[in-house]
Amino acid sequence: MNFTALRMSTLFLRTLREDPADADVDSARLLQRAGYIRKAAPGIWTWLPLGLQVLNKIEAVVREEINGIGAQEVHFPALLPREPYEATHRWEEYGDNIFRLKDRHGADYLLAPTHEEMFTLLVKDMYSSYKDLPVTLYQIQTKYRDEFRPRAGLVRGREFIMKDAYSFTIDEEGLRKAYSDERGAYERIFRRLGVNYVIVSAMSGPMGGSQSEEFLAPLAIGEDTFALAPSGKAWNVEALTTPKTDDLDYSQIPSAEKRATPDAKTIDGMIARADARYPRADGRAWAATDILKNVVIAVKHPDGGKDDKPWREAVVVGVPGDRQIDMKRLEAQFAPAEIEEANETDLKGHPELVPGYIGPMVLGPQAKSAGIEHPVRYLIDAHVTKGSAWFTGADENEVDYYDLVYGRDFEADRTVEAVEVRPGDLSPDGSGALSLERGVEIGQVFQLGLKYSNALDLKVLDQNGKAVPVWMGSYGIGVSRVLACIAEAHHDDKGLAWPVNIAPAQVHVLATGKNHEAFEAADKLVAELESRGIEVLYDDRLKVSPGVKFKDSELIGVPLVAVAGRDTVNNGTIEIRNRDGSDSVAVPVEHAADTLADRLAALR
Ligand code: ATP
Ligand code: MG
Repeated sequence: MNFTALRMSTLFLRTLREDPADADVDSARLLQRAGYIRKAAPGIWTWLPLGLQVLNKIEAVVREEINGIGAQEVHFPALLPREPYEATHRWEEYGDNIFRLKDRHGADYLLAPTHEEMFTLLVKDMYSSYKDLPVTLYQIQTKYRDEFRPRAGLVRGREFIMKDAYSFTIDEEGLRKAYSDERGAYERIFRRLGVNYVIVSAMSGPMGGSQSEEFLAPLAIGEDTFALAPSGKAWNVEALTTPKTDDLDYSQIPSAEKRATPDAKTIDGMIARADARYPRADGRAWAATDILKNVVIAVKHPDGGKDDKPWREAVVVGVPGDRQIDMKRLEAQFAPAEIEEANETDLKGHPELVPGYIGPMVLGPQAKSAGIEHPVRYLIDAHVTKGSAWFTGADENEVDYYDLVYGRDFEADRTVEAVEVRPGDLSPDGSGALSLERGVEIGQVFQLGLKYSNALDLKVLDQNGKAVPVWMGSYGIGVSRVLACIAEAHHDDKGLAWPVNIAPAQVHVLATGKNHEAFEAADKLVAELESRGIEVLYDDRLKVSPGVKFKDSELIGVPLVAVAGRDTVNNGTIEIRNRDGSDSVAVPVEHAADTLADRLAALR
């Protein structure tokens, strides 16, 4: 296929010498400087010709692979009515994150942040039998989210491009197959795009449903932290479970004892008091790891209260004294309920919770023996091992327990993942110590289950003529975000350096100097490359200095560079090199096209 070169004499492009003032990451800085995108408003970007070339190529790879698993492309509007989102409660649940608007008649609309509702209703509209299933539909379309903090250019936009796919199957087994097909397509897509990725097990969050995985690009600019095991397996910290350790033998531990420990409401205070008054038998100093810290947390249940209304519950979470609670991890254990730090009202009605001296003996399973009518639930962090002995509150002012043993003296209602994950923590797969890495979420696959079909009444008749809800999955890729991640991973201090598959062109031909012979040689080379279907960016600008042309070339980042200039006139050669300046050779003009074609084949 012929390709018409992009000629820089006419190309709609203006590269910038200076960094844009508010560019917070390299990809945003370079994509603007090299003339790929322009800022329209915070988190809202205009695509320029070079940017669109790259975007179109990424979309083409996504389309090919998603079509390849039998999904069919559709296209929804971005402007949608309120009602379907009302039915799934997402009109409220999305909070300030959606753009809501009214039409001239006062009806409510929104700019879609994602399209589960509309796909569900479309299938409901058109399909009614198990014979119609399975079906997977997708679109590549613009999404809107009023992100609290748009940042990092295309990485977190308020308008962005997403590939979103939705599978509809008659049963759970079908869903698992659709999910695994989609996951496989993602792996091929990211491999073809040259994007480094890890797949992390994720909690499903506000989408609802069960199994879910995220594809993260490991990049320092990422806002997501993931835990990486030596085996290469990775987890979102919210989804990480602490491996269970064997119960400890407490036969040698003395019985629990209450001791006056005044002025010891903090971990440091407890350690100082205990060291001064009760030196340990084993001679070492008291440490935060000896202390069981009991924190009151408020759980905000969305329903299940009086008349099934929302209600608020105070619970106590016991964690090792050297660890901080990670509210996001802890909250994931209570979904769909949310949590926050307890306030004074939460503590009212619970005089047994003595500030600074809260301990397990008045909580949960042992509360009844302490004479408490309506006990507060006691949850214990997974790092607290059965049989371990603790220094902790005794529920009296200025009194603490020593040698209170979990599993001997007290129990908990439930084990939870409450504390922050640390590098060096053990991996659940038994492969060793975890490290913590930063990543950007580039895609996510969800087994939604029946959530949306139940909410929107999507049913089909099964083989026995019975109406059954349809199993659904949803699968997203942040197409514009992926572009930014590729730029982030492929650049140097001079500019972008695209992988050949998605570069705006494959060869950048530069005609330099004032001699028309160099321009003629370059013209010929470009025509030859065009006829071979090689994509060319051609710097044919007159009266632009070679220095400027070289700088622009480095900024724009096309993988192969061919320069016609003084040497072409003097020696009949064209210089061919890689974007980073490496492997530079001078080849006779008549061999230039062959050499470039060979180099290109080697790059692919
Ligand atoms: P994040 O946690 O980064 O906000 P998300 O989990 O809310 O993302 P999803 O609802 O899973 O996002 O959307 C599917 C994909 O869309 C994400 O995996 C991500 O690649 C992309 N995406 C989400 N929000 C944005 C945004 N504000 N700008 C660009 N891409 C986005
Ligand atoms: Mg997500």
